[in-house]
Amino acid sequence: MPDGKVPDTPVEVLVDLLTKAKDIATASGSVPTELMDHLQRALDIASGLDDYLEKIASPESEPLAALYKKTVTHDWDGVYKEGKTMFRLPKECITGHVEGQTLKTLVHMSQAKRILEIGMFTGYGALSMAEALPDDGCLVALELEAYLKEFAQPIFDMSPHGKKIIVKIGSALGALKDLAEAGEQFDMVFIDADKPNYINYYKFILDNNLLRLRGVICVDNSLFKAKVYLNNVTDENGLALRDFNDFVVQDPRVEQVILPLRDGITVIRRVSAAAECFRTKANITDDEVFRGVRGRSILERMHLDGKVAYVTGGGQGIGRAFAHALGEAGANVAVVDIDANKADTVVKELNLKGINSMAITADISKSEDVQMMIDSIMSKWGAVHIACNNAGINMNSASEDTTLEEWDKTFSINLRGTFICCQAAGRVMLKQGYGKIINTASMASLIVPHPQKQLSYNTSKAGVVKLTQTLGAEWMGRGVSVNCISPGIVDTPLIHSESLKPLVQRWLSDIPAGRLAQVTDLQAAVVYLACDASDYMTGHNLVIEGGQSLW
Ligand code: NAD
Repeated sequence: MPDGKVPDTPVEVLVDLLTKAKDIATASGSVPTELMDHLQRALDIASGLDDYLEKIASPESEPLAALYKKTVTHDWDGVYKEGKTMFRLPKECITGHVEGQTLKTLVHMSQAKRILEIGMFTGYGALSMAEALPDDGCLVALELEAYLKEFAQPIFDMSPHGKKIIVKIGSALGALKDLAEAGEQFDMVFIDADKPNYINYYKFILDNNLLRLRGVICVDNSLFKAKVYLNNVTDENGLALRDFNDFVVQDPRVEQVILPLRDGITVIRRVSAAAECFRTKANITDDEVFRGVRGRSILERMHLDGKVAYVTGGGQGIGRAFAHALGEAGANVAVVDIDANKADTVVKELNLKGINSMAITADISKSEDVQMMIDSIMSKWGAVHIACNNAGINMNSASEDTTLEEWDKTFSINLRGTFICCQAAGRVMLKQGYGKIINTASMASLIVPHPQKQLSYNTSKAGVVKLTQTLGAEWMGRGVSVNCISPGIVDTPLIHSESLKPLVQRWLSDIPAGRLAQVTDLQAAVVYLACDASDYMTGHNLVIEGGQSLW
């Protein structure tokens, strides 16, 4: 702790007391060496802790470092004397690097998109949390002192994350009422304001549903220099925090724990709706709609944790997007492609995201390759739960000129290859009593896309739909569902061929959505068809074409 700094956390208070005790012991000259050694060791342990936490936390961003420097070097007494702030603000109020990194991690872990901060000070905590928000995330900071907004804004503007922060100046309780009236809700609330009002903020937030289901409330200074647990405390703020902690621990709506970091950070979460229902004996229909199927909410039911998937044609385009989507949802993913380099590259991408994956080189029109694909997956992961049979080709020719060679090649990959994959995966899945097969068909199974001529493609894709319906009906009763996705015109290398490129403008006028599909437009569909939430669906052709087949 730097000289002259007022001890602000339990550890700093300990260091201060141990330093004084050691000075007295040294001055007295009659303290046993062993006691001096113990004192020194206790001092070393206590005084090293905060520095070590600081050193070992991942480094702060440049804007955060600038904000820290600006805050600790600012003349807060001067601005108070000039009447620019209502209160004399101590620079110790700053959240700081370790706590900022903790908050940032909590935002990541809770996957919060909307955060409410009560008490911003110079915005170090706000910017730390904003750095962890997704691009469309938002942090609303409530602050009493207008000067602090002016102070923080130039640094927020330096950061690419600053635009996510909205500062509202005025009384926090008033702002909370406005937010509740507007029906706003938050995934995370951070309370770091006037201590005697903590309890009012907390009650208002829970009573008015400002905290979303599964949201968390974090509370700063909940150890308040140890005054929350020491005897004979008269300090108003220490007593307010003690009352607050006691109130929350007895509130049956939540669970809490204090992390003894710096001056204490409390993490509070709502208990489950089912537990609340049991406690309050509420007169509600306590069924799977209320509790979730096996206690899982709809989004949790879309997780694919522990599932094993493969995607053929996974090396680029739609298949690559499917591989990422299934992996992001929790599955292990085998990326299968005829082109080894492409499959390897996608596996590298997945590994960078922490997704378990493997590359398999296979030509899906060859049954021995397909069997090798299934065997490789089984020997590595022991199951195949999700089979994404996506590889396909498209060749164009007027029907009167279509060669048997083109017809056979198209059919051998698009329809025969898809059948070989369905059969090989299906045999494993039927034994497992569980499986999700998702074929990629095409809008061309419904309409005749034009002006390009693609008889063999259209016909092969119509065949994929019938294959899907037939297998879907035949295997559903044995735990295996078979569905297909029919994209409209997707912006992938497949349509960038010399013959198709000039047609893009023509197609756009046929699409109510006014644009081509992006591969990302298809990702939720594959996750839905792969997850348990779609268990009742089979033989379905899920068309995603921006409305094109309606015109
Ligand atoms: P793409 O050409 O961009 O990618 C296809 C991938 O499949 C490539 O990586 C390729 O190497 C691989 N592949 C080709 N033949 C293979 C084989 N025999 N064995 C294994 N891998 C093989 O194609 P895309 O646009 O991503 O299309 C994927 C699927 O979506 C295809 O079935 C296609 O018919 C269908 N589809 C595409 C569109 C579109 O507009 N792009 C529209 C509707 C349907």
